[in-house]
Parts: sequence; C-alpha cells; structure tokens
Amino acid sequence: MHINFFEHTILKMIKTSLCTFLNMKEFLVSSSAVGGLKNFKQMKFTKLSFKPIAKIKGYLPLFFLLFSMPLMAQNSLEEDIKAIEPKVIEWRRDFHKNPELSNREFNTAKKIAKHLEDLGIEVTTGVGKTGVVGILKGKKTGKVIGLRADIDALPVTERNSLPFKSTVTSTFLGKETGVMHACGHDTHIAILMGVAEVLSKHNDFAGTVKFIFQPAEEGPPPGEEGGAKLMIKEGVLENPKVDAIFGLHINSGTPVGTIRYKPGGTMAATERFVINVKGVQTHGSAPWSGVDPILISAKIIDGLQTIISREARLVDEAAVITVGKITAGVRFNIIPESAEMIGTIRTLTPDMRKHILARVQQMVPAIAEAYGGKATVEIQNNTAITYNDEELVEQMLPSLEKAAGAENVQLTKATTGGEDFSYFQEEVPGFYFFLGGMPKNSTKAAPHHTPDFYIDESGLLLGVKAFTNIVNDYLAE
Ligand SMILES: [Zn+2]
Ligand SMILES: [Zn+2]
Repeated sequence: MHINFFEHTILKMIKTSLCTFLNMKEFLVSSSAVGGLKNFKQMKFTKLSFKPIAKIKGYLPLFFLLFSMPLMAQNSLEEDIKAIEPKVIEWRRDFHKNPELSNREFNTAKKIAKHLEDLGIEVTTGVGKTGVVGILKGKKTGKVIGLRADIDALPVTERNSLPFKSTVTSTFLGKETGVMHACGHDTHIAILMGVAEVLSKHNDFAGTVKFIFQPAEEGPPPGEEGGAKLMIKEGVLENPKVDAIFGLHINSGTPVGTIRYKPGGTMAATERFVINVKGVQTHGSAPWSGVDPILISAKIIDGLQTIISREARLVDEAAVITVGKITAGVRFNIIPESAEMIGTIRTLTPDMRKHILARVQQMVPAIAEAYGGKATVEIQNNTAITYNDEELVEQMLPSLEKAAGAENVQLTKATTGGEDFSYFQEEVPGFYFFLGGMPKNSTKAAPHHTPDFYIDESGLLLGVKAFTNIVNDYLAE
C-alpha cells in the first residue's frame, strides 16, 4: 500500500486523538471509581489506561482502513504521474545497463513481471517466449485497450560514456558482440512500467488495460519464431479481446517534449527476397557457348527498379526495392552457372504492396527467360505496414495534445523502416506514434542501431502522460 507523507501525518493525528480520547475516558472512569482526583497519583494509571487500548487494538486495522480509504485517492493523477519520473528513469538505466538480445530477455521479463505483480496486476509470463502480459481492470466494465512496449536489445557495442553504459557481451550468429539498447526499447519498458504503476492507483476507468511487454521486435534469431507475430499466435489479443492497441517509439532525432504521428501508413511493410538465377557455365572467353547469370542479374536489378520508377504511384507514398547482396562466380575467366541476390522491398500502402510484390514475382523469371536462363524469387515478409487507423488517430489525438501541448504534437512523414507492431494493427485498430528523445538544444543525433545512440531521459515522462491520457480517454464512459 502506498502512503505518502501527508497521509502519514493525518493518520498519525487520527491515532493520537484516538489514544487521547481513550485515556481520558479511562481517567474519568477510574477517578470516579476510586473517589476523585486526589487519589489520581496512586492509581496505576498507565496500566489501566492501556487495557481499553488493547481491546480496541483489534479494531485498529479497521479504523486504519476506514480513515485511509478517502485519503488513498488523495493524490491526484497528475501528482502521481509527476512523482513516477525518477522511478521511470531508474528503471530505464537498469534495463540499459543489462540489455538482452531478442528472445533472450529472461531477466528483463522477470523484473517486469515482479513489478506488475507488486502492483496487484494479473500477470502472465512466457507469452511468445519471454513476453509478459499484465491485465488491469477498471472500476467499471467496458472496452479493452492494449498498450505495447518492446523489450529487446541489439548486437551493438555501446560507445557512450554513461555511468549506466552497457558492458554486456553475448554471441550473435556465432560471433562475440557487445549488447546494447541501441533502439531505445529500454525506455519503452520503463515508460510502460510507469503507466502500470500510475493506473493501478487510478483505475477509475470503465474497461480493462492489457500491458503487453513484447520480446524480439528486432526479429528472432534465425530458425526461431518470436515478436508480435508469435504473441498474437499465442492469443495475446484474446481473453479479454483487445479493441484497440497503442504503441510508441522513442526517437533519437525528435526533440524532447514532442510527439510525431501520421495517420495511415507510418512505417513500411518489409519483405526480404532471395533471387536465384541459373545460367549455363562456360569459359569467360566464349560467352556464346553458355548463359551468363551475372548479366541476367544486372538486367533483373534494372527491371526491378523500373517497378519503382515507372509503376509505383510515388505521389501516394514512397516505395523501395534494394538489392543488398549479389553472390556469383569464382574466377575472372569463368562465366559461372548461377547467381544469388538478396534484398528488401518496402511499401506503405496495401495496394502498392500487392502490386509491387506481384510484379517482382512476374518480372524476375520473365527477364531470366528472355536471356535464355531461369530465375526463381522467394519473398519472405518481415513486418506488415504499420498502419494507423485513421478514425482512431482522430479520436485519440486530443489525448496526445493534452499531454504535450497542441503545438508539440506534429504530423510527420512516413518512414521506410519497419516495425512489428504492424502485426497487431492487422488484427485490431492501432495507433503508433513517435516520442521525442533528442536533447532540446541539439541539432544532430546518432541514429538508432548505432554505438553512439543516445536518449535524453527528460523525454520519458511525456510517454507516461500520453499513454495514461489515452487509457483514460479511450475508456471514458
Ligand atoms: Zn530497432
Ligand atoms: Zn525499435
């Protein structure tokens, strides 16, 4: 139970007056019984006077409860939000110092679960491997709102000189590496823990809050499942069924105190593709006696770029196809048998995504065939479109404006980066926004996923306010 200094003082006063009253009563009773005030000094006053107190002692917890009930709610929501800031920063530093890679967030999850349990929140652990889910019911029934924080760190070696700098190392894909919260998910955990603490004291909303602490946003290790997709598969959006979901991402390049958002496609659907080109191997001096898969690869790359430059409606949103790696050949005078290309496709609207994916699948084998070879393409989806439900954005924008001030809530452009929060948004309406983490007087910031990535902690409280407002407004009667 949380009692602040003011409540403590009041309770003390109540207890003191209760004792005084009992002593007085005892004094009067005993004085009259033994014949007046002059015998007072001979009375075993202290011994006598404690008897009724001892009797009443059993009722003290009841008194305590009765007197403290109205006092418990005495701290306003605003006061409690403000008071949580040092804790949020402390938690963030602890997570920052002890980062864990995707699907390996064992200690992180333990700390989160303990915090929620201590608050009296119903907790489920091990959802989607290391995910933690907390359920907080309001005083009345109503809708169910999901708040999501991702909890994983990255194989990056920190270069900042902070007192809570990470010195953790681990193995990633067989290589020894430093581990760092280089995307700022440590701040997301701390913010959501803060929101849970504040709301557990102020649950006068009509409905239920589901706190979703999600592992492996950066992608599970090869061969493993994980992230939002696995949590959904394991039923995180059911029992109770989530009506709307909200998420935020701290941003190292957005000034502290600001929130940025965009209705519709905010972050891209990301696909990884693998193209295998098959030719006919021959001597490098006699190309006419074989089929050159390297030349075919060049034509394919060229063709893919025309899908973007000639077919995609770039006035609607951006779209990208990148070939990031080509492997072919062993020697200067051999035309090899095959070539492999891997790359990524980024799209921001469902229509563009459908069109571009279909055209890649059509074009790649067709180009190879035109030059006498063969090619296959495999496309694997890594994230869906982080698509902010337009109606939900409009409905919840005032909650963000209340938290940051209207002038600090700014419309932004889409990014071609991906985010697996998008999978939640494929299931239920969702709103994902960006929170400022750049020191106010800075103009340049180290990008996410780099060793110098830095977040100004004074921006975290706005995250707590934003989520708290969203819950209270969305679950208002
Ligand atoms: Zn990231
Ligand atoms: Zn991230």
